Amino acid sequence: MPTDPYAWIEESLATIHRADWYRSVQTINGLPGATVFLEGREVINFASNDYLGLAGDQRLIAAATIATEEFGAGATGSRLLSGHRELHRDLERAIALLKQTQDALVFSSGYLANLGAISAIVGKRDLILSDQYNHCSLKNGAILSGATIIEYPHCDVEALRTKLSQQRQNYRRCLIITDSVFSMDGDLCPLPALLEIADEFSCMLLIDEAHATGVLGNTGAGCVEHFGCRGSQLIQIGTLSKALGSLGGYLAGSKNLIDFLRNRAPTWIYTTALSPADVAAALTAIKIVQQEPQRRIQLWQNVVQLKQMIQQQLPELKLLPSSSPILCFELSSAADALKAAQHLKSSGIFAPAIRPPTVPTSRIRISIMATHNLTHIEKLVEALSSM
Ligand SMILES: *Cc1c(COP(=O)(O)O)cnc(C)c1O
Repeated sequence: MPTDPYAWIEESLATIHRADWYRSVQTINGLPGATVFLEGREVINFASNDYLGLAGDQRLIAAATIATEEFGAGATGSRLLSGHRELHRDLERAIALLKQTQDALVFSSGYLANLGAISAIVGKRDLILSDQYNHCSLKNGAILSGATIIEYPHCDVEALRTKLSQQRQNYRRCLIITDSVFSMDGDLCPLPALLEIADEFSCMLLIDEAHATGVLGNTGAGCVEHFGCRGSQLIQIGTLSKALGSLGGYLAGSKNLIDFLRNRAPTWIYTTALSPADVAAALTAIKIVQQEPQRRIQLWQNVVQLKQMIQQQLPELKLLPSSSPILCFELSSAADALKAAQHLKSSGIFAPAIRPPTVPTSRIRISIMATHNLTHIEKLVEALSSM
């Protein structure tokens, strides 16, 4: 009797359930914002990457609508075939201007930008040094490249230096890859030290600014600006779908690198160009980031406010180290994290439990927005104190 070749799926699902690792979607209604309708009920939204509150901004919506009417709903082809519009190039110029790099290249998502860039610039004869807490897209880009991968302990510059002094000479090219703001922790990579080490061992450095663009730095250019490291040789990746409120990814760097990637990055060459609506919304968002610094100022005031209130009212709540609008506190098990998220939800607070395998230890992850007001933050602290 042949066995059912698909039977393993049910068994795997059962294992996922037993570990309290099972995931499912939750339906949001209406426009995204500081409050949203979750399963029909209004909750305060601490689960969003829309740090500046731009995803529901009428100017982005209008730009997307106008671009759709003018250029159509879909791009109809890849950038190298029929999909390229002047609008795509305008967006790339705007990103390069924000980042103060020679050029930029827009991908269909940040995930694809990482896969395409990493696998194009290193290969079998090369070495990748990767922070242990890096985003999944960096890790998978590294695997796809075929290079030898060494993970170094989170933000541990000395460990990185030791690995390089032992291994660097055995490989052709070397690439260090890191999140700038770590997406599930909220802390920052030690960029100045990483640049120094990259220089010392002749390594390329790729930094993923997904959670930093629009958020960090005087002009919102990200962690590189925050640390005063603009002008250094490095490769900057990011997304249009977090603080910029749209969809898509980008890479900013030298003119030559961008030119090379247009010829060698499969996730750029063999995929359909971003839709006119996505591009127009992102372009409008970059203008707002540059013209309305008060949004970023308000965001950071909210971060400081929440941290102060937690320190004063909930000193026993142990926050993970954070220098961003992402604040996490750990729980002892995945089941406890789920219970905490459920409690918060029933108190009108939307803040997700993040569990393995996404992170090594279960936690509640709170992300703060510029459009949260004092009442929203007070309600969060109230719900946390009744946990
Ligand atoms: C969200 C995220 C990505 C993926 O970006 P998308 O545009 O959503 O695909 C990549 N890297 C990091 C660090 C992220 O947080």
